[in-house]
Formats: sequence, C-alpha cells, structure tokens
Amino acid sequence: MWCPYCGHENSRVTDSRSVRQSIRRRRRCLECGARFTTQERVENTNAFVIKKDRRRERFNREKLLRGILRACEKRPLPSGAIEKLVDDIEAELHRMGKSEIPSSVVGEMVMERLLEMDHIAYIRFASVYRAFADIGSLKKEVDTLATRHEIASQLPLMSRDSHSS
Ligand SMILES: [Zn+2]
Repeated sequence: MWCPYCGHENSRVTDSRSVRQSIRRRRRCLECGARFTTQERVENTNAFVIKKDRRRERFNREKLLRGILRACEKRPLPSGAIEKLVDDIEAELHRMGKSEIPSSVVGEMVMERLLEMDHIAYIRFASVYRAFADIGSLKKEVDTLATRHEIASQLPLMSRDSHSS
C-alpha cells in the first residue's frame, strides 16, 4: 500500500475494522510516519455453494449474514463481531480457491465460530441449519455442548485470536 505522502511502499496497519463489505485500515507509513486510512473492499467469493438437494447457488454474503444475524438476535455480542465472522468465512472460502463448496462446509464454518462466540446463537443457528428432526436430536446437541463446555451457562465470549487451531 503506497504512502500517499511520500510514496513509500511499506506501511504498518494500526487498526482495522469491518464496515459493511469493506475493511477500513488505519496505516502508518514506515518511511515518513504519516498516518492514512485505506478502505478495502472484501472481494466477493465467486464460488458456488452446493446445497443438499444438489442445487448450485452463487455464494451470497448477505444471505449468510442474515442467517447469522437471526441466530444472534438479542445476544450480547460485541459490535462488529458478526461482520467479522462473515469476513473471516468469506476470506477462508476465498483462500480455499475452490469453485464449488458444499453448503455443509459453510455451515460447519459458521457453527465452529458461533460455538466460540455464543452458545445460544450456536444452538439457534444449528437448529435451523441442521434442521433437527425432533426435539430429541436438538436435546442431544445441547447435551453434547454442555458436556464439552461444562460451563455452557456462562456463555463465554472468546475471541478467535485466543484460539489456536
Ligand atoms: Zn510516507
């Protein structure tokens, strides 16, 4: 990223935040120390998502975001956390570089992240996504979750950064 003041190539990112479909970054030029802001549009993933019934559908960020927002309704999540989650997923899909991605893979990515962020949102999303056949299978999922975390009621809000995978 060229410094608009001195034209030097290298800058340090001092802050970045997601703003809708773009990422705004505060940068400091390593050469002259000037501070400037860049806004980068998140590249839309061109991949097709393959649904369970084998229909192909172009990856739709807005649709994914809506589904996650619904699951996170009224949950005490830090502002921007959901957009960041969607950004992460979009970036990961982009990195995978595949032209076709099963919807189950996208769903698992969302659930894996929601599980770290908020258990209630996770259960809501999973119940829509996995379309639990009956209350028994939903209960089983909740029990598994409770066992795995033991402190499910405390709803820890963990940052992905603290998670090493
Ligand atoms: Zn500069």
